[in-house]
Amino acid sequence: MPSNIKSLINDLVIANRILANEDVVDAYGHVSVRHPDDPTRFFLARSLAPEFITAADIMEFTLDGEPVKKGGPAPYLERFIHGGILESRPDVVAVVHAHAEDILPFGLTDGTPLRPVIHSGSFIGANVPTWDIQDNFGDTNLLVTNVAQGQDLAKTLGDNNVALMRGHGFAAAARSLIEVVRMSVYLPRNARALYRARQLGGEVKYLHQGEIDARNRGYSPYSVETWRAWHYWANKAGVGDMVTRPDAPTAVSKKGAKIAKTKAKPAKKAKPAVKAKAKAKGKKK
Ligand code: MN
Repeated sequence: MPSNIKSLINDLVIANRILANEDVVDAYGHVSVRHPDDPTRFFLARSLAPEFITAADIMEFTLDGEPVKKGGPAPYLERFIHGGILESRPDVVAVVHAHAEDILPFGLTDGTPLRPVIHSGSFIGANVPTWDIQDNFGDTNLLVTNVAQGQDLAKTLGDNNVALMRGHGFAAAARSLIEVVRMSVYLPRNARALYRARQLGGEVKYLHQGEIDARNRGYSPYSVETWRAWHYWANKAGVGDMVTRPDAPTAVSKKGAKIAKTKAKPAKKAKPAVKAKAKAKGKKK
């Protein structure tokens, strides 16, 4: 296995552990990442609660949700969420699907739109559409269990970062694992702040578009500030010793933690293409 893929899978394991520890996912919910050398494939764990996932549990899929290796372990039923979004959004590298409780009310009523109200919530983007599986598929068990449903969800997501799924959860899409994890952690936090503000009464002040734009301009995936959160969350989740920076092959380590045994090589090859695409997309807007 090439070293950049090994390091990406290592990051995918960290992402799973962070999302579990931060209560974004529980027994259900998952995170995927696009194959850096083949945009028609992605990595996602086998059907297992994220807090147990190790590199050995990661499987490779084609965008129609088929495992590349046949006869392997049972995959997630809802892998079509990932395939659908990665297929429709070439700019997207990583996808999260989860059922975080605090966001659920916003998918059930149009009384209060879920939009950024706190600075760390800015990354969810100005518009968070709600997808209702009922609209095109009638009465279902609400799970996204085939390609058509995954594509329909992706259509509602459009160019946005997050879509709510009525009565179910959310899907988030971003240019990197770090970014999608960060978005998925702050999305419920933003939802809690908004919900509480509504209880206090008065007019809710959402972030202005200019404020959201200013936040985005200041973002870089491997800046000291971004890295600080990733390292903190990983350490809190018990996987601080697995953290490596793609642009610095030496493992980051907290006091007392072991330096990662397998020094991940820089995943440089994957990054410039992603950045370039993201930039091109930014300019269009
Ligand atoms: Mn689900």
